[in-house]
Amino acid sequence: SSTRSSVVVIGAGISGISAAKVLAENGIEDLVILEASDRIGGRIRKENFGGVSVELGAGWIAGVGGKESNPVWEIAAQLGLRTCFSDYSNARYNIYDRSGKIFPSGIAADSYKKAVDSAIQKLRDLDANCVDDASKGTDQPLTPKTPIELAIDFILHDFEMAEVEPISTYVDFGEREFLVADERGYEYLLHKMAEDFLFTSEGKILDSRLKLNKVVRELQHSRNGVTVKTEDGCVYEANYVILSASIGVLQSDLISFRPPLPRWKTEAIEKCDVMVYTKIFLKFPCKFWPCGPEKEFFIYAHERRGYYTFWQHMENAYPGSNILVVTLTNGESKRVEAQSDEETLKEAMGVLRDMFGPDIPNATDILVPRWWNNRFQRGSYSNYPIISNNQVVNDIKAPVGRIFFTGEHTSERFNGYVHGGYLAAGIDTSKAALEEIRKDERKNENQTFLL
Ligand code: FAD
Repeated sequence: SSTRSSVVVIGAGISGISAAKVLAENGIEDLVILEASDRIGGRIRKENFGGVSVELGAGWIAGVGGKESNPVWEIAAQLGLRTCFSDYSNARYNIYDRSGKIFPSGIAADSYKKAVDSAIQKLRDLDANCVDDASKGTDQPLTPKTPIELAIDFILHDFEMAEVEPISTYVDFGEREFLVADERGYEYLLHKMAEDFLFTSEGKILDSRLKLNKVVRELQHSRNGVTVKTEDGCVYEANYVILSASIGVLQSDLISFRPPLPRWKTEAIEKCDVMVYTKIFLKFPCKFWPCGPEKEFFIYAHERRGYYTFWQHMENAYPGSNILVVTLTNGESKRVEAQSDEETLKEAMGVLRDMFGPDIPNATDILVPRWWNNRFQRGSYSNYPIISNNQVVNDIKAPVGRIFFTGEHTSERFNGYVHGGYLAAGIDTSKAALEEIRKDERKNENQTFLL
């Protein structure tokens, strides 16, 4: 038998925790949080590597220094989270070719400008095609071909779309980005939020309303409530469910709905792309890369797009750590996830030897996160196609009966970011859920009154 709670929150990432916190603060005490993994945090996750804490998931607080204040930045500041200013715009002046030569800044700047112009042109063509299918632009935008063009195309599209179209995060909160470099990890912020409403002792959450290792497999819903079934055979009854699983999980068959979700919902879920973003960490016995000002980020230009293109050294974050990070995305991420870490280490060393010569030492350790193959994630973050309209995100976000959908992917302005999840869940979803709960309460009061 099971008791019935007002709300079951599925997922204990930033979204699930912020939704639950707001509900608790508004008097909804009988809630249950079901989390599939053995920890809270979700895509905010640190791991000890090479003697320091590295962030496998979210690493930056993006959008700082603007007209409005980023709420995640505010919380981080209150907690005294250690951060480090990042400026990867100068990466474009540290582009190495395969023989280890750095492209002269003139050539790099030229290629960069061409790539930005071409991307803008492509966007305009897309817009024009939406209005009038027949009027295809005649000057085809430049297709990147040479290694430097490919590298810049990768940086532009997989990192810095801001230069091509306005990104709400930067418009609203400012263009600065800070890397979290704190031994307690980015997840410390989440632990502190959880402590505000969950019973904690000596830094450990002991509250029985948080249930870890509970993989939700089925949501049976009706006008009267929702029955939640987990993989280990437990059943939870709730008046409402707040589902914060990622867009990748929604696209997978992990959770089944009875009755099935309506077509408009599943179609919207399919329309959102899942971005895979992989930060590979490499530990070295010593430093062999330049470390002066404006050298934190560097680029490798190879004839294959996205092949170990984007590099960062961690000397600013953790001086003396001798750690490099290389970022792969999408196809390259999936390829690397499927092979052994030794294989990946060999490839990365080949790339580093191209850039810095044959005599550099081998890495002594490697860490390869696998967001794509994690069945509780199935990717890194949502990425709405540029031409998609707000209807898609609104449909993904819209409740179905007593099930509310939340998470980073339901944020209209800030999807893909920590603050997106924080705001979507902590403001929109919890407000909508509270309204329904209050309506029910009023209904019940009236009924009692009539009796
Ligand atoms: P999640 O953190 O995914 O939380 C959902 C939770 O639901 C998870 O804990 C999951 O285990 C659980 N769950 C899933 N399925 C089930 C189930 N069936 N039953 C029970 N529980 C389930 N953002 C930034 O702002 N800055 C960055 O620099 C940045 N970089 C990133 C780099 C990487 C590699 C990745 C992966 C993400 C990055 N992001 C970044 C995005 C950011 O991490 C996410 O937007 C945010 O953490 C998402 O939070 P969420 O609560 O919506 O989802």
